[in-house]
Amino acid sequence: MDFRPTEEQQLLRRTIREFAEREIRPHVREWDHAQQFPRDLVARLAGLGLMGIQFPEQYGGAGLSAIEYCICIEELARVDPGVALSVAAHNGLCAAHIARFGTEAQKQAWLVPLARGEKIGAWALTESTSGSDAAGMRTAAVRAGAGWTLDGSKTFTTHGRIGDVMVVMAVTDRAAGVKGISAFIVERGTAGMAAGKKEDKLGMRASDTSEVLFDNCRIPENQLLGGEGQGFVNTMQVLDAGRIGIAALSVGLAQGAYEAALAYARERKAFGRTIATFQAIQWKLVDAATRIEAARLLTYRAAWLKERGGRTTLESSMAKLYASEIAVRVAEDCVQIHGGYGFVKDYPAEKYFRDVKLTTIGEGTSEIQRLVIARQLLSRS
Ligand SMILES: Cc1cc2nc3c(=O)[nH]c(=O)nc-3n(C[C@H](O)[C@H](O)[C@H](O)COP(=O)(O)OP(=O)(O)OC[C@H]3O[C@@H](n4cnc5c(N)ncnc54)[C@H](O)[C@@H]3O)c2cc1C
Repeated sequence: MDFRPTEEQQLLRRTIREFAEREIRPHVREWDHAQQFPRDLVARLAGLGLMGIQFPEQYGGAGLSAIEYCICIEELARVDPGVALSVAAHNGLCAAHIARFGTEAQKQAWLVPLARGEKIGAWALTESTSGSDAAGMRTAAVRAGAGWTLDGSKTFTTHGRIGDVMVVMAVTDRAAGVKGISAFIVERGTAGMAAGKKEDKLGMRASDTSEVLFDNCRIPENQLLGGEGQGFVNTMQVLDAGRIGIAALSVGLAQGAYEAALAYARERKAFGRTIATFQAIQWKLVDAATRIEAARLLTYRAAWLKERGGRTTLESSMAKLYASEIAVRVAEDCVQIHGGYGFVKDYPAEKYFRDVKLTTIGEGTSEIQRLVIARQLLSRS
């Protein structure tokens, strides 16, 4: 076992950190307040390969490993978790679904422009009445001539309004249960597809989230993704990897909150001393730093296993569950260490505290991660 990052990985971390400090940090509050995804950032993200992090260079990607993907997401989340969420949804859900299950022609048509950052990706599974119980979706696609007609609606779709390419899950054979769900690639502007309500969110406000509506939306046969009836099975595999990304996002967010708390504790004075000299404050910092390291190791282990090709259902869920839950604690302690200043927008603490809650909800709630982990543990002899 070798826990040391390679020289390339250290350079990658420094590069993304400098980029995030220079290009993102000055705008964090503005984007949060405007609740607007900074579309003009995409070309600069793409310039560093961040719109196609793990995809082979032949498809326009940066060809980085799963651990390097984690480093990129971490460094973005350390500065702005909302931007990191958008990058993770684009890479880890939409583009990853096409990369993994698309035909060569589909990869050329949609993965290449996604990986180059010429198009933004979205991935629509959740509906208003089916989130955790995703297989209970109502959106349906029926065969119509040489293609399909899609009807229904999706909710909480990241990039639902701005995504150029969307992977949409729909029921194609209700009697077949989870084997009757298929995935489709839908391009923005397709007749019968429209963006619905934009969500007014607690946090992650720089990331666009909205409903998407389908009404008699015609999809050509070549946009069926991964085979008829394979959509849900493939979704579970996409989520196994996607959850490693949310774990990395949680680690990065916690790292940002911890650093903000440490810096504040070193300068804020009370009773004639800096508050960092109080043991009660030190213990919060110690617990935060220790939990972050543990979460990072779980996350990298899941990424390392993914890189070697096996299923990582157990390891991904453990990493996502632990990293998101410790991130909530770290962000809360960051506010506490800031006292009243943790409650106002002049300091970054309150934003980390608002953003962090998504990590225990998106890509499967903590309750669902525990359910997945329990199933895995109980099925082992
Ligand atoms: C900002 C944001 C971005 C998102 N982006 C996307 C996206 O890009 N694409 C997409 O498809 N979805 C997206 N989602 C949706 C997200 O994945 C769902 O919100 C999440 O899976 C939970 O579903 P739900 O909201 O319907 O909650 P519900 O499933 O209704 O859950 C409500 C509560 O019940 C609990 N619960 C449910 N079932 C069980 C059970 N069996 N055992 C124990 N507890 C249970 C849950 O853990 C939760 O606490 C996004 C959500 C947000 C907020």
